[in-house]
Amino acid sequence: MKNRILIDELKNHIDQEVVIGAWVDTRRDQGKMIFFEFRDRTGKVQGVTLPNSAAMEIAKTLRSEWVVAVTGKVNKRPERNVQADKQNGDIELEVLGVEVLNESETPVFDITADTREVGEETRLRHKYLDMRSPRVQNNIRMRAKTAKAIRDFLELEGFIEVETPLLTKSTPEGARDFVVPARLYPGNFYALPQSPQQYKQLLMTGGIEKYFQVAKCLRDEDSRGDRQPEFTQIDLEMSFVDREDVMALNERALIDLVTKLYPEKKIQEIPFPRITYKEAMEKYGNDRPDFRENKEDLNVLAFGWVIDFPFFERTDKSDNPQAEGEWTFTHNPFSAPKPEHMDWLMNRENIGDILTTQYDIILNGYELGGGSIRNHKPERLRKVFEIMGHKPEDIDANFGHMLKAFSLGTPPHGGIAWGFDRLMMLLQNEPNIREVIAFPKTGEGKDPMMDSPSLISDKQLAELNIITKKVEKK
Ligand code: ASP
Repeated sequence: MKNRILIDELKNHIDQEVVIGAWVDTRRDQGKMIFFEFRDRTGKVQGVTLPNSAAMEIAKTLRSEWVVAVTGKVNKRPERNVQADKQNGDIELEVLGVEVLNESETPVFDITADTREVGEETRLRHKYLDMRSPRVQNNIRMRAKTAKAIRDFLELEGFIEVETPLLTKSTPEGARDFVVPARLYPGNFYALPQSPQQYKQLLMTGGIEKYFQVAKCLRDEDSRGDRQPEFTQIDLEMSFVDREDVMALNERALIDLVTKLYPEKKIQEIPFPRITYKEAMEKYGNDRPDFRENKEDLNVLAFGWVIDFPFFERTDKSDNPQAEGEWTFTHNPFSAPKPEHMDWLMNRENIGDILTTQYDIILNGYELGGGSIRNHKPERLRKVFEIMGHKPEDIDANFGHMLKAFSLGTPPHGGIAWGFDRLMMLLQNEPNIREVIAFPKTGEGKDPMMDSPSLISDKQLAELNIITKKVEKK
């Protein structure tokens, strides 16, 4: 739009005639005069159509959420009408002319109030409307700023962002894979990544040394209220480091972020306190204890670390259907044991007592992320899979590429991934991660706006060489 002035800049144009591009936020028709709130991405301003204004006729037709180009004069408000605590509370826009750029049906819900009061299914069906509300706008804008601050910090620390594939290989890594049929190879499937774990380790083999990525992760897990089938991680990996190096870097990153973007928040304790898994279970009964001294204060961030997790636990088939043997990993099959327990791993002794280098970062009772120092030698990684009961031929078929890379000069390395949605939820004081994701799915993994998942055509199925069983439409 030519010569458009943003609403936040109007204060610099007192007594001038300007054009704004905006939505009609609210409208109050007082007969002789009509008052509006106009809204753009930078905020709101009051508009007024004075008696006898040439714009009166068109102003009367405007309704909520219509998109308009308003020509108006920026006037200082008389002293008695100044609202000091409000954006543009000391000015108003005298409406001289209006061009309607698009009309709107009456919005399905009131987006000028806190939309958390509205049924979630309705909001998700019209997510673009929910997004116009100031709270959701702010969540999305702060999310972008946070990602940028993290990128800036990591780049200064010598990291580079590398994209890794979305079409990858199905490997038994923990959760269930989402798979994608490979049309050109009937019967074969790609898997969507549960995390960039293997690729980031292979980047270490590739000499990248310091990698990060704002990465999409996909896990086909049963619906649980606060899980999303796809979510975002701040994922990183570093070479030539030990546990202390990775933990220290993460503390610096989080402190930098909070200081720059959330100065109103207070980090309860620096350096972040540590607790062993055993102590956490004994004292708090869970492995993501809430360290906050005062849980009422929204602005306290009680970060902490949980360390010394057991590497293996007895298999519970109901929890992990892919488990092959008697033992399974608790966190990540690629983790290294603590150095003092390496012999136990290699000799398959005291398996239940082996502790891993895994570290989880916790915040206000949530697990914010986790990572570890990895097994960078092939015989060590192979041993982990042997302990879990994988047959040699399966180890080679599933993880041969990792073992091969590790036999070609892979440096010692370790890393971490933060759940970015969860971090944003906590920083923005939201009750669940859906509030900080632009287009989330429901707790049942559905997208009511796009109506996904959905059936595909017989033609598509035929091309993919897929025969489906008829199922009742849910
Ligand atoms: N890839 C791991 C995860 O998604 C994190 C890590 O170990 O770096 O939990």
